This record gives sequence, C-alpha cells and structure tokens, in this order.
Amino acid sequence: MSVYISAELRRVVHKRAEGRCEYCLMPEFATFAAHEIDHIIAQKHGGQTTLENLALACILCNKLRLRALCRWQNVRNLIRLRQAA
Ligand SMILES: [Zn+2]
Repeated sequence: MSVYISAELRRVVHKRAEGRCEYCLMPEFATFAAHEIDHIIAQKHGGQTTLENLALACILCNKLRLRALCRWQNVRNLIRLRQAA
C-alpha cells in the first residue's frame, strides 16, 4: 500500500534519523539506494502516517525484510522510545 507522506514530514523523519536506517543504523551514504520512509506499525494494522509512527529505513529493512527478527526487536525499541518522548 502506498500513501502520501508530505515532503516536510519526510524531511523531519530524515533529519531525526540523522540519515541512518532506524532499524539497522546503516547510513544512507553507505547504501546503493536512498533510504525510504517506513510505517513502524503498518497501515494494514492500524498504523497512522504520523511522525511517531514513521521511521527512516534502508531498502533491506523496508522492502526485502531480510532482517525480520532484528527488525521486530528494533520496532519494539522504536515504539518504546517514541512513547517515552
Ligand atoms: Zn536498515
């Protein structure tokens, strides 16, 4: 599912993540493709397009799901951090 995310919201997410994938911490400059904006809780599970539910993600974490176990742990950590903020 694709959803519109404003340029301003994308910019804020990118800046907050300091250009690193928020799941595996890979810097964008070290990858072959630009990082993407990901819904931490997927829209199909009720996740909203809000700053708290968005994360900067490398293509491996966002599309290929090769790091599923690590990703799930990091998703839980991100949710905890956002709730504490
Ligand atoms: Zn990643």
